[in-house]
Amino acid sequence: MEAQTYDTLIIGGACAGLAAGTYAARRAMKTLIVTKDIGGQIATTPSVENYPAIDFVTGPQLAQDMMAQAMKWGAELQYDEISKIEKRGEKDFVVTGDKGTYASKSLILAYGKTPRNLDVPGEKKYAGKGVSYCVTCDAPLFRNRTVVVVGGGSSALEGALILSKVAKKVYIVHRRDEFRGEEVLVAQMKAEPKIEMVLSSVTQEVVGDGQYVTALRVQDVKDASIVRDIPVDGVFVEIGFIVNSALIKELVDLDRLNQVITNKKMETSTSGVFACGDLTDSPYKQAVISAGEGASAALTAYSYVNDGKAAGVDWTSHPTS
Ligand code: NAP
Repeated sequence: MEAQTYDTLIIGGACAGLAAGTYAARRAMKTLIVTKDIGGQIATTPSVENYPAIDFVTGPQLAQDMMAQAMKWGAELQYDEISKIEKRGEKDFVVTGDKGTYASKSLILAYGKTPRNLDVPGEKKYAGKGVSYCVTCDAPLFRNRTVVVVGGGSSALEGALILSKVAKKVYIVHRRDEFRGEEVLVAQMKAEPKIEMVLSSVTQEVVGDGQYVTALRVQDVKDASIVRDIPVDGVFVEIGFIVNSALIKELVDLDRLNQVITNKKMETSTSGVFACGDLTDSPYKQAVISAGEGASAALTAYSYVNDGKAAGVDWTSHPTS
């Protein structure tokens, strides 16, 4: 039975969803945040040094602080995994999770992305037996061991640097000969003697002895005849993220990367459904940007729920603009 109807239901409890929670609750909206975990991607980051006004904070601490702030203003929190979203009419949404069914007048999608897989033989077999998708979580398991990081973005570069503090040797395998990640991280990585770059190489297979990973098999992209096994104890896959679109592909328009298309007010193609954070089509996936989008989404949801009542000066529809 649907116990109560929320003004807004936020799916996802990371930077975007938690900031949306604070903003919605401060507009006296009855607000529910439904999430699998707190912090999402930021919870796996050991150091955040670019969140305005905060010189240094760990990712988990930032997430906890944002959650506490949303709760302080009255947002409710429910741990659950959502499997179905229905729009029955205007201001009439029903969301189903493993633990219950929730009714709401508006919906804010803020559940981010999930790590992309390599999709090569051995990856699934050795997941948790040497293959990892979280450097922060698993780096301590590889003290004085040899590991490889696959990827060329900031996550891979940051991962290689973190691993170099504990591992004996770190390889970084990237499919191109230039990195996508931040220049400052590239420079730091090049200055670290424990890190060896294996460029223009694609992963063919995660090799193991039946129990644990023993090597990563890579092929040179410029000369396909060159295939070699890099002996390692661990493989860290850091090749970006994908949006879980199954839940929303019938609900809102997506771009070619399955990201939710939004306008500047974080409205989607469906009235009453807003989106914010890493699952939207806006560029630069950063905590501060997600939080800002969360604030916008909440204010626009407020306006939707309250029949167009402005939650602030909206210059896009201001009579003098
Ligand atoms: P990303 O920027 O999308 O980079 C993904 C990397 O993986 C790319 O180098 C890509 O290669 C490679 N890749 C993708 N699919 C692959 C495949 N199937 N096989 C092999 N390689 C593959 O992802 P990210 O590094 O996770 O970063 C995501 C966002 O978070 C970015 O906006 C980033 O700036 C941000 N971030 C920031 C920080 C920081 O500020 N400290 C730290 C981490 C992440 P190509 O380059 O050839 O496409």
